[in-house]
Amino acid sequence: MSDKCPPSPYGAYGTNAFDIPYPDDKVLVEYVFLNHTRHRVHSKTRVLDYEPQKAEDCPLWDVYMFKTFEGVEPRKEMILKPVAMYRDPFRRGLNKIALCELWETMEKPAGVNTRRSCAELLKKVEEEGVWFGMEQEYFIMGDNGLPLNWDKDPKAINLNFHTGVGLCKTAGYERELAEFHFQACLYAGLKMYGINREDSPSQWEYQIGPCEGIDLADQIVISRYLLWRTGEFYGVEISMDTKPAVSPENAPNQSNGGHMNFSTTRMRKEGGIKYINEAVEILRNSPQVMSHYDLHGGKDNAKRLTNAYFVPGMDFTTGIGDKYSSVRIPTLVALQGKGYLEDRRPCANADPYEVCETLTRTLLCS
Ligand code: ADP
Ligand code: MN
Ligand code: MN
Ligand code: MN
Ligand code: MN
Repeated sequence: MSDKCPPSPYGAYGTNAFDIPYPDDKVLVEYVFLNHTRHRVHSKTRVLDYEPQKAEDCPLWDVYMFKTFEGVEPRKEMILKPVAMYRDPFRRGLNKIALCELWETMEKPAGVNTRRSCAELLKKVEEEGVWFGMEQEYFIMGDNGLPLNWDKDPKAINLNFHTGVGLCKTAGYERELAEFHFQACLYAGLKMYGINREDSPSQWEYQIGPCEGIDLADQIVISRYLLWRTGEFYGVEISMDTKPAVSPENAPNQSNGGHMNFSTTRMRKEGGIKYINEAVEILRNSPQVMSHYDLHGGKDNAKRLTNAYFVPGMDFTTGIGDKYSSVRIPTLVALQGKGYLEDRRPCANADPYEVCETLTRTLLCS
């Protein structure tokens, strides 16, 4: 934190800072959409004079993103199609957040729109009862481009921060930020599973799910939007990059993971462990999934999957309750003989639509 930008009380920057009431005959809708990175989001506000009951009640809109689509899309406006709607935890009242898909024409999804094919596949296998749950790790970044607390006490990085209490000067500040974001997600209507402090100083995790079908990926995108907005209030950047900073001499576990948990109706029923084990074997023989688990065809993961500090290596392994395995069967799932599996390989900034589509295609369509 720079001295010019002290930690702010909630709401001091940006959102209704002056407590001016919103007009009661209008509804504000924040249109949220992914850009060409399929990770970072943009948003803009539309004023409606009615309350939309579902995403489709929100009008189509267009957006021109300067340079953003260069090399990826023709440089022209894209159409924003609202596809999911949530409550707005910042403006509250009847105000909404609308998650939007990008379309090039009314008939043609933009090339960066990975949601379309994921949603279509999940619709096709609807009767399998596919549930996803994701663990989203992130770092709270300081002004020097390093995680907020890294430069304060480099030795502290060797402590086990996972689920830790205390342990560094900024712990309370970080916890407040994480808790604020958690509450914002709950208010929005996201299916939060939990939050915890992560392995490194200034690293946190939240989990969403289990959610059926496309909902998990949609909620992850909205939760990331809420997280960056939360960062704005506190004057900090949030990083979900695979390796947010390189500091090898004092930072062993500086990577962000995005574990994806998966189950089908059969896996969740009595004796479901049989189907879980079968799925693990399919994944063992499907190394091609790795090119979909980060944003650079597997290159980011090659830096992250070092088989140290609770991350697996590059070679496939599996185990019960084993945090070094590529695909883990949680201890309680093994004990109960049913439940779900955890793929520990996706990066924290992976495209959740691509990860969900890949897992589904690999496990249910091959
Ligand atoms: P870990 O032990 O790997 O740290 P967490 O407790 O952080 O696990 O997160 C568990 C994740 O598993 C959550 O995202 C949750 O939604 C997900 N999950 C739980 N049950 C299921 C299920 N039946 N199918 C899919 N995902 C599930
Ligand atoms: Mn976890
Ligand atoms: Mn974790
Ligand atoms: Mn971790
Ligand atoms: Mn996990």
